[in-house]
Amino acid sequence: MSKKTRRDFLKLAGLTAAGIATKPIVSVLEAAQLPQENPITAKQWAMVIDIRKCEEEKGCTKCIDACHTDHNVPEFDNPKDEIKWLWKEEFHYAFHAQEHDYQDEHLRHTHPLLLCNHCEHPPCVKVCPTQATWKRDKDGIVMMDWHRCIGCRYCMTACPYGARSFNWCDPRPHIDHIDPAFPTRERGVVEKCTFCNHRLAAGLMPSCVEACPVDAMAFGDIEDPNSTVRQLLGDKFTIRRKAGLGTQPQVYYIV
Ligand code: SF4
Repeated sequence: MSKKTRRDFLKLAGLTAAGIATKPIVSVLEAAQLPQENPITAKQWAMVIDIRKCEEEKGCTKCIDACHTDHNVPEFDNPKDEIKWLWKEEFHYAFHAQEHDYQDEHLRHTHPLLLCNHCEHPPCVKVCPTQATWKRDKDGIVMMDWHRCIGCRYCMTACPYGARSFNWCDPRPHIDHIDPAFPTRERGVVEKCTFCNHRLAAGLMPSCVEACPVDAMAFGDIEDPNSTVRQLLGDKFTIRRKAGLGTQPQVYYIV
């Protein structure tokens, strides 16, 4: 850690501990330039992903492309620099604890979509010394304020899902077409999925959900018994990643 970063860290940590940093946290995401009309609201947002439906579209990455394009996510050649908001992973790695030798072969060879789980009890939030990440009371989204992030990466260590990425390099030269409607990040900052809070505020569904050609992703209010996500959870058998940890992930998978 450079001298400057360390000094900033101590100053911010001190302010937080003393309760001096009391200004309300306003995410830079909330300043994203989409018209803020007819927002879609929920008491608790949740996502349901149908693994088999998704797998029907072999090699499809439309949701990932839409997400990464809309959020100015950079593409690096070196995997160690990778920034990911939404990605596919082998079933074995995604659901290690739920795998067994006699499971349906087809399921074991799927590549489920992964993202931040917007946990009800997010360990990442607990460890952040500057409140750069927090859970929104109004709808449960685990937010990020990149202006507050000091790059300590405690949140990355705390997240059991590998849902956060760190900008080791300046991301801007690695973004194909920068969308001026969404803020870019800078070197030394952590980032992750935000359940498209800026699109919800503009009355739009998350970009991944909209882009999926087979409706493999459902998004809605888990507190509303009439919502699609609740109906799916009632009708289908679903699993969550590392549910035993008590984080209460808000992303469910139909298997
Ligand atoms: Fe935090 Fe990781 Fe849970 Fe997302 S998945 S809320 S980053 S602990």
